[in-house]
Amino acid sequence: MDLEKLAERLLPGEYPSLESIENRYPPRDLPAGAEVTRLAPSPTGFIHLGNLFVAIANERIAHLSGGTLYLRIEDTDLKRKVDGAVEAVIAALDYFDIRFDEGAEIDGSNAYGPYYQRQRAEIYRAYAKDLIRRGRAYPCFCTEEELSALRDEQVKNKEITGYYGKYAKCRNMSEAEIYAALDAGKPYVIRLRSMGDPAHKLAFHDEIKGDVTVTENDQDVVILKSDGIPTYHFAHAIDDHLMRTTLVIRGEEWLASLPIHLELFDVLGFPRPKYGHNCSLMKMDGESKRKLSKRKDPELSLSFYRQEGYHPFAVKVYMLTLLNSDFEEWHRKFPERPLEEFAFRINKMSRSGALFDLDKLNDISKTELSQLSPEAMLAFLKEWAFAFGTEKEQSYFADEEYLLRVLALCMGVGGKKRRKDFVTAKQAVAEIGYFFGDRVQKDEYRVDNAMRDAVLHGFLQTYDYADDAQTWFSKVKELAASLGFAAEMRDYKANPEAYRGSVADVAEVLRIAVTGRANSPDLWTIMRILGDGRARERVAQAINS
Ligand code: GLU
Repeated sequence: MDLEKLAERLLPGEYPSLESIENRYPPRDLPAGAEVTRLAPSPTGFIHLGNLFVAIANERIAHLSGGTLYLRIEDTDLKRKVDGAVEAVIAALDYFDIRFDEGAEIDGSNAYGPYYQRQRAEIYRAYAKDLIRRGRAYPCFCTEEELSALRDEQVKNKEITGYYGKYAKCRNMSEAEIYAALDAGKPYVIRLRSMGDPAHKLAFHDEIKGDVTVTENDQDVVILKSDGIPTYHFAHAIDDHLMRTTLVIRGEEWLASLPIHLELFDVLGFPRPKYGHNCSLMKMDGESKRKLSKRKDPELSLSFYRQEGYHPFAVKVYMLTLLNSDFEEWHRKFPERPLEEFAFRINKMSRSGALFDLDKLNDISKTELSQLSPEAMLAFLKEWAFAFGTEKEQSYFADEEYLLRVLALCMGVGGKKRRKDFVTAKQAVAEIGYFFGDRVQKDEYRVDNAMRDAVLHGFLQTYDYADDAQTWFSKVKELAASLGFAAEMRDYKANPEAYRGSVADVAEVLRIAVTGRANSPDLWTIMRILGDGRARERVAQAINS
C-alpha cells in the first residue's frame, strides 16, 4: 500500500516537520532533579476537591524540586468551552494559594503553548500523519451502530470489549476498499495500529502506587476523532512530551489506560515521563466507603468551601494531612512554620483511597482559626460576609474597633488557652450575632420562671457597670447565696442536697438572659463590651419573657 499517498489523502497539505516541532519546545533549563508537573483540567466549570487534591501535590512537588507547574486546558471533549471556566479554575486554586508558573491565561512564560488543546490541532495532526506514513495508524470507517453491535457481541461472548485483533475490522482493509470508502465520503476516525500483545505483562513503577504489573495494550484506540480533534490518549502523549512534563500526577481512574499511553509514547519515539496515579477521595457512607459524588456530596465542590467560609489555610492543611502521612505530626510540632517548609514527598502519598471526613476538617478549622490574630480574623470574616453574608451581618463591620473587642474575647486572646469557638466564617458570624442588635434565644432556662425573674431582679439591684470582674462575680455569689444556691462550687459538691444548685446555675440564667445561650465567653467581659445601657436592657427584657 502506498502509505505516503494515504497519509496525504487523509491529512492533506503541509504540516510542520516533527523535528521542527521538537525544536520549538526544548527541555527547560532547570536544575537537576527539578520536576515539571501540570494540572490538566477539562473546562467544564465544575472544580472539585479532587482537583485541589492533585493540584496541591503537583504544586508542592514542582516547587520543592525547583521545577515548574503549568496549566493545560483539555478542551478536546467539549463542543464548546464553558464561559469563564478557565478563570474559575485559576481563581479557585488561587484562593488556596496554588499558583501556576506558566500555562493558559497565566502571565509570564508561555513558551510551551498554546496551552489549550484545541489550539494545538496542527501538532497532533502532524504526528498522526507521520504514524499513517509509517503504517502505525489507519482510518476506520465503522459507524456507531457497528461499534455498539461489536460491543454487544463481545459482551455476549464474555470477551474483552473494544477494537482490537480480529475485531479490528478496518485494520486490514485493502487499498481499494479504503479509497472506495473515502470516495463515498464516509466519515472516519484515525486509529493506532497496536503491536501489543496482552499475553505480555509489563512491570511498571508508579511513583505513588509503587510497582505494578500492567498488560500490554492491544487496543487500536482512536487517536484522531472524525473532526480531526485528538482523543485524550493521543493529546496526553504529545502534550506531555512537548511540554516536557517529567512527572504526570493524575487520578487513579487513568491507571487502566496506562498501557495505551505507554505504547503511544513508544510508537511516537518519546521518552516516557514518570507517572503517579493518585488515589480517589472517599467518604464513609454508613458502614461502607465510597467515592465522593457530585450528586450526593456538596462538599465535593470547591465552591462549597468558599460559601461556607472555610479558611483556605485550614482546607489546605487538611488536604496535606490526607496527602502525606507524616504531615499532621509535623504541623502539630511546628504550627508556626510555613507549610512550604514541610518535606512533601510523592512516595509518602497514600496508595489506596484517602478518607475525607468533614468532622476532621472542622476540627482542623477550629484549631487554625483559633491561631489567627483578631485583625486577621476580622479581615477573613469581612471578606466572607461581603461575598455571602446578609446585610445585617455586613453591618457588624461598621465599627471595627468594637468588632475587634468581640473577636478577641470570643477567641480567648490573652487567656491561658485560645478558645476554639469558630469553625467557619459563616458559623462565626452567626455566633457573634448577640453582640449586635437583639439577642437570639438559643438555649432554654433550666430554672422555673419565678426563679429566673428572682435572679434577674436581684442582679439588677446591685449591678454596676464600673465593677471589675472580681467585684462583679462576688455580687453574683452573694445573690446566689441569698436565693439558696451554693456560692462556692466546692460547698455544693460536698453537700449537693443542702442547696438548690450552685453559683454556676445562677450565672447561667444571667448568661442566657444576656446572650441567649448557655455557653459563651466570659460574661462580665461580654457585658462590658455591650455597654451599660444594652447590658441592663438585656437583663430587664428577659424578666417576664
Ligand atoms: N483532562 C483530564 C481530566 O480532567 C486530565 C487527566 C490528566 O491529568 O492527565 O481528568
